[in-house]
Amino acid sequence: MTSLPTSTERKLGLAIDLDTCVGCHACVISCKEWNTGQYGAPLSDTNPYGADPGGTFLNRVHSFEIKPKSAPAQVVHFPRSCLHCEDAPCVTVCPTGASYKRVEDGIVLVNESDCIGCGLCAWACPYGAREMDADAGVMKKCTLCVDRIYNENLPEEDREPSCVRTCPAGARHFGDYADPNSNVSKLSAERGGIELMPELGTKPVNRYLPPRAKDQIDLLAPLLDIAPAKPAGILGWVERVMERL
Ligand code: SF4
Ligand code: SF4
Ligand code: SF4
Repeated sequence: MTSLPTSTERKLGLAIDLDTCVGCHACVISCKEWNTGQYGAPLSDTNPYGADPGGTFLNRVHSFEIKPKSAPAQVVHFPRSCLHCEDAPCVTVCPTGASYKRVEDGIVLVNESDCIGCGLCAWACPYGAREMDADAGVMKKCTLCVDRIYNENLPEEDREPSCVRTCPAGARHFGDYADPNSNVSKLSAERGGIELMPELGTKPVNRYLPPRAKDQIDLLAPLLDIAPAKPAGILGWVERVMERL
């Protein structure tokens, strides 16, 4: 089993705005493209031109239609990637030390040369943020674009995660949560940023900015109650957030 640092010098992470994300998947594609050619290259694809294509993605976007009790139905687009948890169960469960959390910036990474592909970390991660690369036989995950953010060969404006650089809606923000004056700390404080499933005790670094209340005028809203009666997991969490509006 692998130990975690008791603290980290910085807490780098993302703030993801559920209010402005339009579900365009540009971040999914830019993440796939950057990571296929860089740190853990390549990210495999399965049957890419067939009827049921699949593959390894470090970032995915899920779209939910939600019907809060006292508001019109609305669609929420939910981007999902590693949250770089402070108490990361994917690290402590790793039998080889391949999974680790960096002391200097808190990024959780996989040393692919030490990964034996046992898949324990994927079982331990409650957010489904790890992906087994079928071709390479090793576990992969969001690296917070560690190969961009410190890369002095890139222009300064490109030294941020590929998904953040790409998002056309400005829904993704990158910064240091250990600094109360950083862009992400301030944004999270202003917008009531929330942890994903805090009851699990994993202490995610990333924060989600909840959707703001929409206009109440929607005559068709009562007809749109199509959400499951008792959603669980991530959908249940999104619905609980919506109920707070
Ligand atoms: Fe949402 Fe931005 Fe990703 Fe598009 S690129 S899905 S707007 S987070
Ligand atoms: Fe590990 Fe999952 Fe947390 Fe990422 S989100 S640090 S993979 S437990
Ligand atoms: Fe992908 Fe980099 Fe964004 Fe992580 S930070 S989701 S690796 S583009």
